[in-house]
Amino acid sequence: MFDLNLLVRKNIKHLSPYSTARDDFKGAAEVFLDANENSNPSAYNRYPDPHQAKLKGTIASLKSILPDQIVLGNGSDEIIDLLIRAFCEPGVDNVIIPQPTYGMYRVWAQVNSVEAREPNLTDEFALDIQKVMLAIDHNSKLLFLCSPNNPSGNLLHKDSIESLLQSFSGIVVVDEAYIDFCPSPSLTELLDQYPNLIILQTLSKAWGLAGIRLGIGIASKQIVAILSKIKAPYNISAATQEIALQYLAQNNIRNQVSTITAERRKLEEALSRLSIVQQVFSSQANFLLVRFTDAKKCYSYLLERKIIVRDRSSLVHCNNCLRITIGTVGENQKLLNALKTYEESTIY
Ligand SMILES: *Cc1c(COP(=O)(O)O)cnc(C)c1O
Repeated sequence: MFDLNLLVRKNIKHLSPYSTARDDFKGAAEVFLDANENSNPSAYNRYPDPHQAKLKGTIASLKSILPDQIVLGNGSDEIIDLLIRAFCEPGVDNVIIPQPTYGMYRVWAQVNSVEAREPNLTDEFALDIQKVMLAIDHNSKLLFLCSPNNPSGNLLHKDSIESLLQSFSGIVVVDEAYIDFCPSPSLTELLDQYPNLIILQTLSKAWGLAGIRLGIGIASKQIVAILSKIKAPYNISAATQEIALQYLAQNNIRNQVSTITAERRKLEEALSRLSIVQQVFSSQANFLLVRFTDAKKCYSYLLERKIIVRDRSSLVHCNNCLRITIGTVGENQKLLNALKTYEESTIY
C-alpha cells in the first residue's frame, strides 16, 4: 500500500541534485581550487562536508542505526520543511496535524501552500484514531505526531501510532524532540517494520545545544535519499558539525536530564498545591502544561516579574493553560515564589 515512488512529488523525483567537485574525488586531495574559497588557512575558510559523514557516523553508533538512515537539518525545523517540500504538491496535497501540538508543522505547511488538516487529540491529549482517519484522503501525504507532545508533555500510545503506521499510506512523522527526558525508548526500533516512518530528534533540548541548530531525521535510506537530494548542500555549518561531534562523543547528558526531571516532579507537586492552579498535566518532557484559574492574568503578572512562560491558552483543550519550561533549581524557585505572591494577592 505504501509506495514511496508514488508519494514523492514528480519534480523532486526527477531532480538531479547540486553536486560538488569534491564528490568526484574520494581520496585525500592536496590542492583545493574548486570552490572559490579563500585558500589562506583559517579555522573556517573551507566549506563543510555536505554529507556530514563523520557526524552521521557518530550519531548512527549512538542510536544503533546506519549512517544512511540519517538526514541532518538546520534544526529539526528544517527537516519539517524538507518533508513538506519533498512530498506535498502546493495547492493540491494536504498534511494531517492532530491538535494541540507544536506550531511549526502548520507554519511550514502554510509557507508551502499546503493545506493543514487538524483533527483534535482527545481532551487527555491522546490520539483519536477515528478522527485522524476521517481527516485523511488520497491527497494526504504526511501525518505529524509529536511524542512526547508539545505542549501537553504526554507520550502518544505506541499502539495508536502503530495502528496509524499500518493504515496510513503516506508518511508518519514522529517528532521525538523530548524523547531524551523520557524513560520510554525511541520509536527508531520500529523503523525496520515501517517504511513510512520518519523520526525527528534534535540537539536543542536535552543536549543543551539549541544555539548550534542541529536536527536529526531518522528513516529508511530511501526517504533519507530524497530529503538529502533537496536540502541545501552546506546546510550544517562546520562549526555546528564540530561542536555536535564534541558533545555527542562526551555523551554525558544523563546527569542534567535526571536533575531536570527531578525538578519537574518537585515543581509539579508544588504547583498542584496552589489554589490558583486547577490542573498540572503529567509530563514526560522538560516542561509542564498547567491549567490556572486565570491564565492571562497569571501570565501578565509573571511578565511584570520578568519571568517568561508560554501562554498556550488559545489552543484546543488548553483553556487557561500556560506551558512552563523546567529551569535551573534557582529559576524554578523564583517562579514558585512569584506564583505564591500572586496567589496571596488574589486571596486578599
Ligand atoms: C523544540 C522543538 C523542536 C526543535 O526544533 P529545532 O529546530 O531542532 O530546534 C522540534 N519539535 C518540537 C515538538 C519541539 O518542541
